[in-house]
Amino acid sequence: MEVGPGEMEEREKIVLSMCTCKSCPSFEDCGENGGFCFPTIGKSSCIKTENGCICGGCPVYEKMGLKNIYFCIRGSEKEQS
Ligand code: SF4
Ligand code: SF4
Repeated sequence: MEVGPGEMEEREKIVLSMCTCKSCPSFEDCGENGGFCFPTIGKSSCIKTENGCICGGCPVYEKMGLKNIYFCIRGSEKEQS
């Protein structure tokens, strides 16, 4: 089934509401809201150093069946797959 842009926007909102990136030791605050695993968001523009990744404990991780980590630096799940 095709996922339309409206549906992607809805999903992005849900991901952002559950994202735990802001509590992560690698997080740098440059006004971003996390959700880096999501294809319409992807890499951070300011996080560059891998100081640990807490994605594995995020509710989105299980819900979306994610397999990768460090989405902020390495790119979204889709980009890394
Ligand atoms: S899996 Fe990681 S990047 Fe994705 S919403 Fe959760 S904490 Fe944020
Ligand atoms: S994607 Fe992982 S490493 Fe990057 S800020 Fe989120 S939890 Fe931390």
